[in-house]
Amino acid sequence: MKLMEYQAKKVFAENGIETPEGFLIEKKEDLEESFKKLNEKAVLKAQVLAGGRGKAGGVKLVNSLQEAEEMAENLLGNRLVTHQTDSNGEKVNSLLMEEQIDINKEIYFSILNDREKQKNIFIISAEGGTEIEELAKNNPQAIKKIRVDQDVGLKEYHVRQMFLQLEMDKKYYSSFFKLISKLYNLYLAKDASLIEINPLVVTGENEFIALDAKVKIDDNALFRQKELEEIRIIPDDEKDEVEAKEKGLSFVELDGDVGCMVNGAGLAMATMDIIKHYDMEPANFLDIGGSSDPQKVINALEYITQNENLRAIFINVFGGITRCDDVANGFKKALEKIDVNVPIVIRLTGTNEKEGKEILKKLGHDVFTDLKEAVLKLKQVYSKSDK
Ligand code: GDP
Ligand code: MN
Repeated sequence: MKLMEYQAKKVFAENGIETPEGFLIEKKEDLEESFKKLNEKAVLKAQVLAGGRGKAGGVKLVNSLQEAEEMAENLLGNRLVTHQTDSNGEKVNSLLMEEQIDINKEIYFSILNDREKQKNIFIISAEGGTEIEELAKNNPQAIKKIRVDQDVGLKEYHVRQMFLQLEMDKKYYSSFFKLISKLYNLYLAKDASLIEINPLVVTGENEFIALDAKVKIDDNALFRQKELEEIRIIPDDEKDEVEAKEKGLSFVELDGDVGCMVNGAGLAMATMDIIKHYDMEPANFLDIGGSSDPQKVINALEYITQNENLRAIFINVFGGITRCDDVANGFKKALEKIDVNVPIVIRLTGTNEKEGKEILKKLGHDVFTDLKEAVLKLKQVYSKSDK
């Protein structure tokens, strides 16, 4: 899960990491009071989960209430399109109004995990700001990566390497060291998979302040991060996946056009592989799990058929604990409720296969035992499906 900037900054502040003073604005009427508290000079920042707001007009310095109102008018309730969103953009439901910070230096800083090397990785650059992606392309040497083994922990030599990259006077070192230690402790304590501060600024008063904040929490750890899970804001394009999870399904939407319904994560992966092998593309990953609950099949088919690109549906069930007749009954009920207008190919084998097949054949569906035969049939109906 991603935190909104204002949520991440609150977590920072609670953990002794300096952030600008600010107020959350949810409606235009809130502007005046906050603006006065900030001595009539502020920054207004659209609160969306996507990055790249600055370049897209989502961050602006405002020096009068009128300017602030105009900015709020433009953003609140509208959609902000950035290079990280699709052309639909992301709806802006709130703004963060902050004091204007006098910036001496913009640093890029992040911590994330490097799955391949099984280490945490710190990334730092003296040239942070909105052009960081161009910098990564054109001058990658300006970006330093330091890997920290979880068992070794963050050591002074790691922090020194980071600090050297910044080419700053050594009088800053002690506050830099404290800041980096706090950030790493926070990263571990909150089960974060990303903490990114871009820019981390050095102010006119020579202090480090997190001017921006991006924090991602590992979804698999949310069970022990209850206070964060409670404030979760789910972006539009993840709503289905999160809702599906609550219903006991693992569902991930993909770019292809063959809907998949499979029991078991491993079989679901193998099914996607075989679909790709025959030059088709899966529209989703969907694991209905190991239990025999017909309701899950109904829910699953609902998610699959919501996809407008769909050309065919492939159901691949290997009955172990899952009983084929339960899946078939769920499927029958689902078809009574849901209008499916693309061909469906089913491979069903294992526990209660015979009973399951009976049910499906009565409904007029092709049911296969052999996976290859089923996929060849899929390929055939897919090619004819003109969606
Ligand atoms: P992002 O584009 O979504 O990453 O939004 P940021 O919060 O990083 O803001 C983009 C840019 O706006 C920053 O890199 C700064 O250059 C600028 N900015 C944001 N807040 C302030 C501020 O308080 N003072 C000044 N001078 N610039 C700011
Ligand atoms: Mn930023």
